Amino acid sequence: MLRVTANPETCAVSSLCVYRLPGVFDQDEDGLVVVLDETPESPLHEEVRRAARGCPTKSIHVTEE
Ligand code: SF4
Repeated sequence: MLRVTANPETCAVSSLCVYRLPGVFDQDEDGLVVVLDETPESPLHEEVRRAARGCPTKSIHVTEE
């Protein structure tokens, strides 16, 4: 299982992750990252890993369980 978390304290409000995976990531009223789905289905795993790599502030963390 893949688990995804994100740290709003370091989020730079770039919205990259939200554009890439709108079903997994969202933004709060200040634009800071919110994780909608902490355990996305396996077809999304590679894209979640890409979003984590692509986050400019490394605010997305992926763990494989
Ligand atoms: S890609 Fe990173 S910095 Fe950009 S909104 Fe997502 S968590 Fe925040």
